[in-house]
Amino acid sequence: MFMKKLFTMLACCLLAACATSPTGRMQMTFMPDAEMNQMGAQAFTEIKQQTPVSRNHRYNSFVSCISNAITRQVGGNWEVVVFQDDSLNAFALPGNKIGVHTGLVNLVDNQDQLAAVIGHEVGHVLAKHSNERMSQEAAVKQGLQVIGAVAAPQSAIGQLGVAALGIGAQFGILLPYSRAHESESDIIGLDLMAKAGFDPRQSVVLWQKMSRASKGASPPEFLSTHPAHDTRIQELSRNVPAAMRTYQQAQARGQRPNCRK
Ligand SMILES: [Zn+2]
Repeated sequence: MFMKKLFTMLACCLLAACATSPTGRMQMTFMPDAEMNQMGAQAFTEIKQQTPVSRNHRYNSFVSCISNAITRQVGGNWEVVVFQDDSLNAFALPGNKIGVHTGLVNLVDNQDQLAAVIGHEVGHVLAKHSNERMSQEAAVKQGLQVIGAVAAPQSAIGQLGVAALGIGAQFGILLPYSRAHESESDIIGLDLMAKAGFDPRQSVVLWQKMSRASKGASPPEFLSTHPAHDTRIQELSRNVPAAMRTYQQAQARGQRPNCRK
């Protein structure tokens, strides 16, 4: 853990690749955003070819009603797609791409619970978690080559590094996130849903439901790409009071989404 921190600090200094996440955490993100976004878009296109997209009008309008309310808080163009898949899953890719499975839409009782999931996914994108993970992996695996590529793209070692970046798509953008990334996304998501006028208390209910569902025969897929930790619900609960103030202000401003399944 200490070595990882030290390494991040060193790489930050060497590369000037230091960034600060939305919650103020220092992070190393040296992959070019354009490349990350392109990779995300490409992966999303492949997923759309492999997994049937839901044609259920009710589900699609429910999900886009919620995601529009949330992404309006951060701006930019977002693509949110509902996939016909019974697993309890949702995911985010760089380039503002979000996928929600019909299984998860079925699970939630109300707009606020799904807003918690979508807010969480938007959080992963905003905090550039894929870039950070890939930067860490690339730095560890390719070491100086990648560092050379970024520092001096035209040099011989730089060219080697550029080639190494090309394999990026393989060390998946859909791998499980670390605990730090999960809790950061929870915090960002909680704030976003509250700003959009969704009840932040429902995020706790959602995770309790997920936790109950995971005690069944096969744990929901969502938990394999978004590992659940016993502290998750406590952490969220701790942050609910602050989010409640944001929520009440949003409601007072007239932010009262009314999305129905
Ligand atoms: Zn997550």
